[in-house]
Amino acid sequence: MIISNAPDSLIAKAVMAFVADCRKVIDPAGQSKTVILRFAAILILCIASTFCGAQEPSKTQPLPESDNVEELVTISSGSLPVILSAPHGGTLKISGVEPREGIGMETGPSGFFTGRDGGTSELAIAVADALEKSTGKRPYLVISNAHRKYLDPNRPSEIAYEDSDAAPVYQRYHGTLGKYCKEILEKHHAGLLLDIHGQGTSRETVYRGTSNGKTVTRLKERFGESAHSGDESLFGTLRRLGWKVYPQPGDGKEQSGFTGGYIVQTHGSHRATGIDAIQMEFGAEYRSKINREQTAKVLAQAIIEFTQEYLQAENELISR
Ligand SMILES: [Zn+2]
Repeated sequence: MIISNAPDSLIAKAVMAFVADCRKVIDPAGQSKTVILRFAAILILCIASTFCGAQEPSKTQPLPESDNVEELVTISSGSLPVILSAPHGGTLKISGVEPREGIGMETGPSGFFTGRDGGTSELAIAVADALEKSTGKRPYLVISNAHRKYLDPNRPSEIAYEDSDAAPVYQRYHGTLGKYCKEILEKHHAGLLLDIHGQGTSRETVYRGTSNGKTVTRLKERFGESAHSGDESLFGTLRRLGWKVYPQPGDGKEQSGFTGGYIVQTHGSHRATGIDAIQMEFGAEYRSKINREQTAKVLAQAIIEFTQEYLQAENELISR
């Protein structure tokens, strides 16, 4: 989804140089042409900045940094029985911590990887906003603002970070998820954790990851397999609302590599302390700046339907 990583200032210089050359060739003294060329330069700059977006920091400039754990993990309590987690969208360096090297570690879906899931933090917040707009209530939020180079909250602690200075950030992420799960179970008796990620395999697809139903054990016990994988499941609803989802409702196994990582394995409802947990792997189309609001609106609608159908929290929702 990244078309260019060139900083805006470099693009601006290139455009202005191009314009200067054109002016020399066309009309060294032409005032009207100068105005037109300036307008063209502004137009090109606007187009360039739109494509470059603000989703990925420049690879040539140092990342902004923080040593404040509260800044490195955004948390916010909610009043819906829903938690949105976004572990891989962060852009901050953790002060004093070197990038992870992963020496001797396996790579791949459950191993060492430092690429970020662009647009996922923003998407989690947009979904929270859309839920609030529809219901008057917000979900719980846990969002890592640390770049994955320094910390990977979706891994066991032994391989999530390499410098102990990153440990408090990891503990805040998982400690808060545990605390919110407990609070939701006490207040609502059931809840939904959506762990939001981005994948580069298919731009138009959203993959479900539950270890093929394991992390939604309680949902299946209460309402049967169809609540997990049928037309009335969360992903069944998303398909009805126009999304390309995988696996198809009623159709088998989750995609290898997207079957659900450490977060849903740790806080899913196969554990007494967990709630029904689904990892969502979004293709670039859903996360792009231009589509994000629509994605959030559709997901919020599916979450509301799921909440009303399965979380026995109808009275918690403001009637619409
Ligand atoms: Zn991810």
